[in-house]
Amino acid sequence: MWQRNGALFWTHYGMAKRKTFSRKERVRLFELHRGQCYLCSGKIQVGDAWQIEHVVPWELTQDDTDDNLRLAHIACHKVKTADDVRAIRKADRIKAKHIGAVKPSGFTRKWRKKMNGEVVPR
Ligand SMILES: [Zn+2]
Repeated sequence: MWQRNGALFWTHYGMAKRKTFSRKERVRLFELHRGQCYLCSGKIQVGDAWQIEHVVPWELTQDDTDDNLRLAHIACHKVKTADDVRAIRKADRIKAKHIGAVKPSGFTRKWRKKMNGEVVPR
């Protein structure tokens, strides 16, 4: 058990265990959410791979109530994860540019090469 922001959480080694959903519960949740994927809002068709997702990460709240559960295509979940990774990589690039790790191309803007090869300020 550990404490954060004044709230108590159980670790994976503590009392709480991530719930595994029985076939019956999966069917119940599927019907509750009318077979709709919460990521693409599309219908989950028979034969599609799908899973039950926690809206608020289970690790934070251990909330297995219907309010915190949604259906998602496994394919959509993978796209979402890939997007997150891209966003993080992009943020890294912007940061690199900001601290000067990316070489600036200021020369061509500040200086002008004359016909005789002489470089003069603009
Ligand atoms: Zn989907």
